[in-house]
Amino acid sequence: MHDDRSTTIADLKQTVKAYCDARDWDQFHDAKELAMSITIESAELLALFRFKSRADMQRMFETPGPREKICGELSDVLFAALRFAQLYDIDIADAFCRKMKENELKYPVEKARGSNKKYDEL
Ligand SMILES: [Mg+2]
Repeated sequence: MHDDRSTTIADLKQTVKAYCDARDWDQFHDAKELAMSITIESAELLALFRFKSRADMQRMFETPGPREKICGELSDVLFAALRFAQLYDIDIADAFCRKMKENELKYPVEKARGSNKKYDEL
């Protein structure tokens, strides 16, 4: 499918649309359901790391089976986010860039470098 480095977000959104159209899933997908899907799939990703140390997690990334499970759950999160963007005509690349500009202002390098404080505590 899309396994080369030239795959764009538009390509991925089209893949998601075609997949859902073929299954007649518009009837099940709205903003609330997709926001829930993002949360649920994020929790499934998080569950893989439950009770794992940093060393454990590093080993997971270096071991094909666990690494593939991580890739799968991360892809589930992305699927839900792409579906949300596709269904509501959100230019997610543009939205991401705008959000990063906000983040640059919230977390200026001179204040945020090496800090894990929230922007209003910097
Ligand atoms: Mg999943």
